[in-house]
Amino acid sequence: MRLVLLGPPGAGKGTQASNIIKEYDVVHISTGDIFRKNIKEQTDLGKKVKDYLDKGLLVPDELTVDLVWDRLDQEDCKNGFLLDGFPRTLAQADALQKGLEKRNINLDKVINIEVDKNVLVKRLAGRRVCTNCGATYHVDFKPTKVEGVCDECKDHSVIQRDDDKEETVLNRIEVYENQTAPLIGYYKDLDLLYNVDGTLSVNEVFEKIKSCLNNM
Ligand code: ADP
Ligand code: AMP
Ligand code: ZN
Repeated sequence: MRLVLLGPPGAGKGTQASNIIKEYDVVHISTGDIFRKNIKEQTDLGKKVKDYLDKGLLVPDELTVDLVWDRLDQEDCKNGFLLDGFPRTLAQADALQKGLEKRNINLDKVINIEVDKNVLVKRLAGRRVCTNCGATYHVDFKPTKVEGVCDECKDHSVIQRDDDKEETVLNRIEVYENQTAPLIGYYKDLDLLYNVDGTLSVNEVFEKIKSCLNNM
């Protein structure tokens, strides 16, 4: 299966991605995770993109598209992939479609997780992430058993993302509304869109996603 997870920051894309990869044979590709890893390791790419992430702005399309295709062309993606946080602009969506056509493959579904802005702010402000293994928590909705310690890898690496601080959060939601929300219509026109109410519980959202994917 070849899937895209669409939705504003904080909608629950990463949370659902970790559910989906346990159940289906797809490789999880999060452009945000790739950028953060490069920033942490201070690679050339990391140095190029750090400012954009700090400000909550989008990394330029060309850089992002090349990075994604390098990843999608790797052997492990041949069976299927799950794009999380890509595409985020119409130009990226076009570049994805063109690349897929060139390779004679297509997307099976675009899952759009819908959540209102006031809920997003609460989710992002309370989000905590493990910088060691990538697990995601929430101070109210999904706390770690021991504060600051990851349930999964037991590392003392659970922190707030820099771009989850309030001023950047509002910026990111605005960037989403202006640049990414138009993709909903784009994929609806391609007859690929599946909308799911992201304000339901994590399990309920996953049940809906499964019923969509199992009935394709
Ligand atoms: P995204 O990848 O779309 O930015 P995340 O998956 O990181 O979003 O989720 C954002 C925050 O909201 C996290 O702290 C996560 O634990 C929490 N969260 C995700 N889905 C739900 C849900 N259905 N109900 C309540 N909280 C959720
Ligand atoms: P995310 O982890 O998806 O919330 O992404 C974090 C940040 O990474 C975003 O605020 C952008 O700065 C950058 N980013 C992630 N994916 C993309 C993309 N497809 N295009 C441009 N920038 C991106
Ligand atoms: Zn961890």
